[in-house]
Amino acid sequence: MQSIKLIATDYDDTLVGRDNSMVLVSAFKDELYDLKREQGTKWAIVTGRRFRDMITALKMFSIRGLRPDFLIVSEGYIYVRRKFGFFPMISWNFSMWRQKHGIKKRLRHLIVEWKKELTSRWPNVTDKSLGRTHVWYVFKTEEECQAADAFLAEKIENYPELILFSRQNELYIGITFCCKGIALNEVAFQFNYDLDSIFAVGDGPNDVSMLNGSSAKLNACVGNACERLKRAVKESDGYIAEEKCVLGVVESIKHYREKGKNGR
Ligand SMILES: [Mg+2]
Repeated sequence: MQSIKLIATDYDDTLVGRDNSMVLVSAFKDELYDLKREQGTKWAIVTGRRFRDMITALKMFSIRGLRPDFLIVSEGYIYVRRKFGFFPMISWNFSMWRQKHGIKKRLRHLIVEWKKELTSRWPNVTDKSLGRTHVWYVFKTEEECQAADAFLAEKIENYPELILFSRQNELYIGITFCCKGIALNEVAFQFNYDLDSIFAVGDGPNDVSMLNGSSAKLNACVGNACERLKRAVKESDGYIAEEKCVLGVVESIKHYREKGKNGR
């Protein structure tokens, strides 16, 4: 049987859909419980959301008997579940915060300028940014988003510290090194997980870093994943599910478990 010691799942549009419905999450619970019983498998939620934005979701999961062992939030901050709740990996999180803060401080004037230009070009855009140096916009149409993507891509070209993500009508700028893949690698390093025994799954462009084969060898994406992620998963010989969201997660886990059973 394929050894799966750690399951890493993205949250939005992977475990739950846009409506935040958790109706189908019991299918995932069955798979996880089987793996926990058979192999002692642990579970990590890996999300771009902030810790505080996950509190309600964690409560809802807990009511359903689902408690992640690790929580990676804001793309890179790691929390570990202990007896009395989630505890931060202090030195890692502090180092991540300090480096992010340094980059944002250094590039603040530029980012603020780009944001001004962007909102004057697309005045109807919805600004969901969580601060002056955070960039997160929702456009009226996908075409507008693509045009804004091209506009910002040119701006950040000379700043490899920044990475641009866009999907459908949403656009977001992240910090290159503060990504899900690097954080997942740190969990693997600290808790002795072999990359061959890590299963990871997601749907969006910010999942590429953990699904390009460098953080988890059992990598997959759900059927509703963006094309950029599907390409990365395909190129690293991962699995592309047909089912969407949590059913795609379950399909992918079953795929790897079957693959192990058949010795392929
Ligand atoms: Mg997602």
